Amino acid sequence: MGPRADGDTLELVKNLEPMHPTPRQPFIHQANWSAAQSSQLYGLDAWGQPYFSISEQGHVMVRPRAKRGGCLDLVSLVQDLQARNLSLPLLIRFDDILEDRLAKLHEAFAHAIAQYNYQGRYQGVFPIKCHQQRHVLEHVVRVGRRWNFGLEAGSKAELLIALALLDDPDALLVCNGYKDTRYLETAILARRLGRCPLVVIEQANEVDGLVACSRQLGMAPLMGVRAKLSVQGIGRWGSSSGDGAKFGLSAPDLLATVNTLREGGLLGELRLLHMHIGSQISDIAVLKEALQEIGQFYVQLVALGAPMGYLDVGGGLGVDYDGSCTATAASTNYSLQNYANDVVATIQECCQSHGVPMPTLVSESGRAVASHFSVLVFDVLSTGGVDRAVPPLQEGEPLLVRNLRELLATITPENLQEAWHDAVKFKDDALSAFRLGYLSLVDRAKAEKLYWACCCTIAGHLGHQPIPADLQPITTALAATYYANFSIFRSAPDTWAINQIFPVIPIHRLHEPPQILGIFADLTCDSDGKLNRFIDSGAHKSHLELHHLQPPNPYWMGLFLGGAYQEVMGNLHNLFGRTNAAHIRLESQGGYRVEQVARGNTTSDVLTALDHDPQSLVERLRRDSEAAIAAGNLTIPDARRLITHVEESLRQSTYLQPDLRSP
Ligand SMILES: *Cc1c(COP(=O)(O)O)cnc(C)c1O
Repeated sequence: MGPRADGDTLELVKNLEPMHPTPRQPFIHQANWSAAQSSQLYGLDAWGQPYFSISEQGHVMVRPRAKRGGCLDLVSLVQDLQARNLSLPLLIRFDDILEDRLAKLHEAFAHAIAQYNYQGRYQGVFPIKCHQQRHVLEHVVRVGRRWNFGLEAGSKAELLIALALLDDPDALLVCNGYKDTRYLETAILARRLGRCPLVVIEQANEVDGLVACSRQLGMAPLMGVRAKLSVQGIGRWGSSSGDGAKFGLSAPDLLATVNTLREGGLLGELRLLHMHIGSQISDIAVLKEALQEIGQFYVQLVALGAPMGYLDVGGGLGVDYDGSCTATAASTNYSLQNYANDVVATIQECCQSHGVPMPTLVSESGRAVASHFSVLVFDVLSTGGVDRAVPPLQEGEPLLVRNLRELLATITPENLQEAWHDAVKFKDDALSAFRLGYLSLVDRAKAEKLYWACCCTIAGHLGHQPIPADLQPITTALAATYYANFSIFRSAPDTWAINQIFPVIPIHRLHEPPQILGIFADLTCDSDGKLNRFIDSGAHKSHLELHHLQPPNPYWMGLFLGGAYQEVMGNLHNLFGRTNAAHIRLESQGGYRVEQVARGNTTSDVLTALDHDPQSLVERLRRDSEAAIAAGNLTIPDARRLITHVEESLRQSTYLQPDLRSP
């Protein structure tokens, strides 16, 4: 019997839970709350393993080397970094986690190769588009050296980075993306430097250019072809494969390309077959089908006379953002080991049955390598929400207000649904009356407050029971807004662009019961600038369980698993720039070292990025204030204060500064 890849994956598939966008009521009266309960509530046991946990003091703890020892208190770390003048919002990158993820990827493939006795090796590459930051890539190349880990470039600029950074002659440099003559010639000539770029033909028309460049330079690159699979991917990136896919050669194109290469005398350089069926493949069944198809393409190419030797399964290895192990968008129904097993076993089966030597297996796993190592810490500035106080009774209140007052007095656990419908009706009546001029502003305000009071009373009676569907809007109505010092467009753009969900939790006070349900609003003036979808084990919830603020103590949140794609996709909406970032490395004798600091953008940086000139901006304001002084509209001290604010703002971060936040 041949090896089977699917043995242990099926057990992992749990039933998909239905979506329940409104969470259970909060636990206002929970006594004896413990850190363990927070861990369960926020799913940390599931998605945080093995790097994140909660201490008994209710702080998030980080184990950057997983089980190999060493632990940091995230709250103390943030305090230490603040003391070094690195203000929030702050990206903390744990270089050890990045290394550990790389190690786990290689261990999984090594294990699968040994288990199935696969006659070939695994040699991965990191897709640069997933994280282009220099320090990160240098780190990947440095620690990846022990496995000859390489890089994948998807554009000319990324190719330049890869050529400069990748100094291991045995590492692969996979060249994808659109290629012009300069791209092709650069890749070909880099062979003379001892690099080994593998140029992947992704479009039918690329082959002629490649043949021409090779002829011109008298030297050919190692080559690959990307196949367009018929297997349709799933989820957000499902269209990366199938007939409508942007890249890849269809079966007829593939045959034509092989012929062109043969005629050009270059078939001997065709070494790699490539596929990429999209990112975050949540269902392993889809991957398995794709692997079967690519395996057949591979043996057929060998039969056509190409030397081959490498099979590149692309990206797609997913991250279990919510820890639910389900085939839902924020999760995966397989583990890293399942993935490696399936790649190894499927390709082995295919090659064995056709008597073809087994290729070196390549993957371009970006998300799975880079998601875990970075944590965004941001602070909450203030909260907003409904006023729960009952307005005092006054003589001569209009009927609409009296109705709400009577309703409030008669809510019992038996009439909650009826009370809710009445409350909504009376409030709507009050709003109509105001619009038509029959209710004063004072009475409208009273009606609204009484409506909120009714909601709170109903919610209080609901307690921990499951909420009937028609009462669910109460939770939304009562949710608090936490105003947070960050921009989702900068720091978590996928939450806005593609509804991605990342785990977001308070990083301290986790030994206290959370008291309130809330959402986050960011600093931008955009109504889209909010976080209102949170992980909920295979589903999502629209509110997060939070603590009341205790000024002047800060309330710090962590956004986790956002290390892939977010930074470069982030934009300057409302001119919020890059946040500060610190690279942390554990010391072998305990403690940590701040390995590298990347300062966030100053206001001057972001203005300059959009062609403004900070100097002339200041000068114009200075000239205008001189005119105002001359006209007697501005005193000299006030003019100085104004110009000082402008000059300091230009030098400082675009985010709110702790000392100037509130008067
Ligand atoms: C984006 C991309 C990847 C990375 O995919 P992940 O799902 O992040 O691993 C790999 N290869 C190609 C060709 C890509 O376009």
